[in-house]
Amino acid sequence: MSRPDFSIILFDWTLLNYKWYQPDNAGFAKRIQSDGGGNKMGKLITSSAIYQKSLSADWAVGGFIGYDMEIMQASARAAGKIHAPVMLQASCRVVEYAGADMLRKMAEACAAELDRDVILHLDHGDSVERCKHCIDNGFTSVMLDSERDGFAENVRKTREVCEYAHARGAVVEGEVFHPIDSPEKYWTDVDEAVEYVDLTGCDSLAFCCGNAHDLPPDHPRKLRVEQIRAIHEALPQMPLVLHGTSILSPEFIARANQFGAGLYHPHNFDLRDIQESFRWGVCKVNSALDIKIAFTTAVRQYMAEHPVEMDPRKYLGYARGVIEDYIAQKHVRVFMDQEKA
Ligand SMILES: [Zn+2]
Repeated sequence: MSRPDFSIILFDWTLLNYKWYQPDNAGFAKRIQSDGGGNKMGKLITSSAIYQKSLSADWAVGGFIGYDMEIMQASARAAGKIHAPVMLQASCRVVEYAGADMLRKMAEACAAELDRDVILHLDHGDSVERCKHCIDNGFTSVMLDSERDGFAENVRKTREVCEYAHARGAVVEGEVFHPIDSPEKYWTDVDEAVEYVDLTGCDSLAFCCGNAHDLPPDHPRKLRVEQIRAIHEALPQMPLVLHGTSILSPEFIARANQFGAGLYHPHNFDLRDIQESFRWGVCKVNSALDIKIAFTTAVRQYMAEHPVEMDPRKYLGYARGVIEDYIAQKHVRVFMDQEKA
């Protein structure tokens, strides 16, 4: 498979197919009927098998935050269309907004519609209790974000979540970032990563190697690929997860600003560094910020062009179609996980 052409501007909105979204209700009804005819239904699964497949390969799974039903459907359908792994993620705020049980049922409905297995993951779980609540409600994977508690407490809490999750067939993404007493140090030491994995029994590991959600605006966006490689060589069986590496092209920002976003153009990570990291254990990359901006921009565009339209299905359905195209492109151009499910 040839690599994407870097000369193509990433996420150029003009490349998106601005189609009128036509809900595939007929196809959905047919699928539901065919379930009684012996076809297997998709189910919720953990990330273990797909991470093992990705571990030494040059692609990674795209994990997309589903802010609402439309984005979850778009994310599932985009992955389904190109046979990429379907990994639906919810943050704590999404769980508070929709409810863990509702999210599980939506993920199950996506699995049934596509007739494919789906991973349902809690992103940045803010407490042990939140992680347990999501596991109790059928999430197959949770992340505990507790590194601000300090290393010892982070280890203790992660181990507790791991024991709870593993007893119930779920998996845990742990996170070891920069030491609490060195907040300016934007990389994870190898020894610290090894010790954290040994002590917690986590199933995958989020880390910091130049990437972070809380980087100061003027801090260079440069992934430390050599450090990722060093962590991978010390933990060759541990799937690694990248957070905080959004790439927003000038065209993407301009499009959002055309409809009132008021965004400054951010510094971006280099796509080649991100893709290079896939060879060194990175098995999943999160997407949140760009999904939120793209979806809202599409809603605003629709409303600006159709000011008399009052049917929420029209503007939400339009945005769902736009974001489905966007996510499919991101799978192919960034994660390269098409045809890998
Ligand atoms: Zn994150």
